Amino acid sequence: MARLLAIGECMVELGDAGSGLLRKGFAGDTLNAAYYARTYLPAAFDVAYLSAVGTDLLSAEMLAFIGDKGILTEDVLEIEGAAPGLYMIHLKEGERSFSYWRSASAARRLAEDPAHLRRAIEKADTIVFSGITLAILSPEARETLILELRRAKAAGRRVVFDPNIRPRLWEDAATLRAVVEAGARASTILVPSFDDEQAHFADADPEATIARYRQWGADTVLVKNGSGAACLSNGTDAIVRITPPRVQTVVDTTSAGDSFNGAFLARLLTGVAPAEAAAFAARVAAAVIAHHGALVPPEHLPQALDLA
Ligand code: ADP
Repeated sequence: MARLLAIGECMVELGDAGSGLLRKGFAGDTLNAAYYARTYLPAAFDVAYLSAVGTDLLSAEMLAFIGDKGILTEDVLEIEGAAPGLYMIHLKEGERSFSYWRSASAARRLAEDPAHLRRAIEKADTIVFSGITLAILSPEARETLILELRRAKAAGRRVVFDPNIRPRLWEDAATLRAVVEAGARASTILVPSFDDEQAHFADADPEATIARYRQWGADTVLVKNGSGAACLSNGTDAIVRITPPRVQTVVDTTSAGDSFNGAFLARLLTGVAPAEAAAFAARVAAAVIAHHGALVPPEHLPQALDLA
C-alpha cells in the first residue's frame, strides 16, 4: 500500500477567542502538509505522521486530533515526562505575530531512536520533512535523521524537503545553511519558498534557487513565490512557470506554503504531471489564504475532479 510519512513537530496553538478567552488548536508545518495531502489523496493511500509527544492529557488530545483528520499516529513516539510545544497567536490591527514555548518540546526528541525512525521510513514510499524538523533537533539527532533519509533516497523512496527557513530556530546562519544543504542532498523533491532562499542563500531569482538545489541532487524543484509565479524544474525540461490565481482578499496566509506542498504531492502521487499538480496546488493555496486557520475544512477547498 502506498504511504506518505510526514516527519516534524505539531504544536498546541492558542488563539484569541475574544473576551479574554483562548481557543486551543493543533498545527505545525509538516502536519499541515500531511492534512492537505490526506485531503487530496485517495483512500488507498495512507498518510502517517512521525513526531514525539509526551504521555500527558494534552499529548493524548493532540494524537486524537491528528487521528481524527485521517492521519495515522502509530509512528509518533510517546515519551514519559515530556510535553508538546505551544504557541500563541497575537492579532494587533490585523497583523499576526507569534509567541513560542517550544524549546523543551517533546518533538525535539523525534529522531533519538534510529531504529524506530528506520522502521517508520521503511513503511513509507514518500517521506516529507522540513527545515523546521531539522532546526528543532540536536546536532546528533539531525545527523541520525539525515542519514536515514539518505538511505531512503538510495533505496528509491521519494524524499520531499521544504527548507522552510526560520532563522530564530537555528543556532547560527552557517549551521542553518550547512544543515539545509545536507537535508537537500538527502532529498529528491525540493519545495522551497523564494523569499527564504533569497534571504539565506542570496539567490538572485527562483532560477538560481532551482540551479542550486538541482546541483545538490534534487530531481524536482518547485519554488513557491507568494503571489508571483511558482517555478518548476523537473528533469531536463525547460522551467515551467505557474501563476497563482488572484486572491481578492487575503484573510490569513498561515499554511499557504504547507497546503501548496500537501496538494502538490497528493496530485503527483496519483500520477498527475508535475506542472498540472503545481497548478492545482496553487489553487488550493489560494483558497487556504482566503480563509482563517492553518487547516481549512474541505468544503472551502477546490475539489480534485477525479476524486469527487
Ligand atoms: P510560504 O507560505 O511557505 O512562505 P509563499 O508565501 O511563497 O510560501 O506561498 C506559498 C504559495 O501560496 C504560493 O506559491 C502561492 O501559490 C500561494 N500564495 C501565497 N500568497 C499568495 C497571494 N497573495 N495570492 C495568491 N496566491 C498566493
